[in-house]
Amino acid sequence: MTILVLGSANADLVVTVPHRPRAGETVLGGDVRTLPGGKGANTAVAAARLGARVVFAGAVGRDGHGELLRTSLADAGVDTAHLRTSDRPTGTAHITVTPDGENSIVVSPGANADLRESDIDALPWQDVATLVCSLEIPVPVVCHAIRTAAGHGVRAVLNLSPVTDLPDDVLPLLDPLVVNEQEAEALGTSVDVPRATVITLGADGARLGDRRFPASRVRAVDTTGAGDAFTGALVRELDQGVTLPEAVGFAIRAAAWSVTREGAQPSYPDLADLSGERG
Ligand code: ADP
Repeated sequence: MTILVLGSANADLVVTVPHRPRAGETVLGGDVRTLPGGKGANTAVAAARLGARVVFAGAVGRDGHGELLRTSLADAGVDTAHLRTSDRPTGTAHITVTPDGENSIVVSPGANADLRESDIDALPWQDVATLVCSLEIPVPVVCHAIRTAAGHGVRAVLNLSPVTDLPDDVLPLLDPLVVNEQEAEALGTSVDVPRATVITLGADGARLGDRRFPASRVRAVDTTGAGDAFTGALVRELDQGVTLPEAVGFAIRAAAWSVTREGAQPSYPDLADLSGERG
């Protein structure tokens, strides 16, 4: 069946700097690297690399960054027929990386903020078995998509990142909600409201209810987009009809692979990559 991914598509503009600039200070950095990113596009690429049939719903601008994202999604085999071109510029994430490995990020949503409820109504719901959303796009649009999915008997998965307040009727529709440890803490007891909640724990793996899933032991090189690799792999497995605990086990292996390589989308495995490893 088809997985519908609704979310952001951003160009990540990455510069390494010797130290973070203070207010009013100018710092010279290295050459800028322009990489395809955004939580939505990352998740779509992760699922498609693993062989899923994926439709991506989002918006980019009429600019080179938009072309970069279209190409990256299409190269992974994602259907971009519902990736709308907006009059606003493609979303960008301005990322400065310091030698300690820490990031500071400014996101300009641009075209992502131009997504509307009417875009959701135009999607091919009759073909979709699983919807997966993340934030970085307007919250009412995400809520409308989740309610529409429920109305069509489509499974709804939400990676609630960045963490945001949702209307009371939305959380109970999620199967599962996926959040990292910090997001789970911010949500408090709300994590118990969805049908299921998966909490990712970085190098410690993930938790589903009381059950802990240890992470694969790997030498982490770059954890950018690990959560999106996890969510994309999770929905790929759910779409194959496996149980949620089995899907979490698979997602952990896919996310671990992704942290051993640089970047977000370029670091995502295909099935052959995962079958070649132990465990
Ligand atoms: P996010 O990227 O959304 O903050 P996490 O940091 O929890 O999410 O990472 C998501 C998943 O990626 C984890 O559940 C784990 O499976 C995998 N992962 C992240 N960091 C590591 C690591 N250092 N070693 C192995 N797996 C990791």
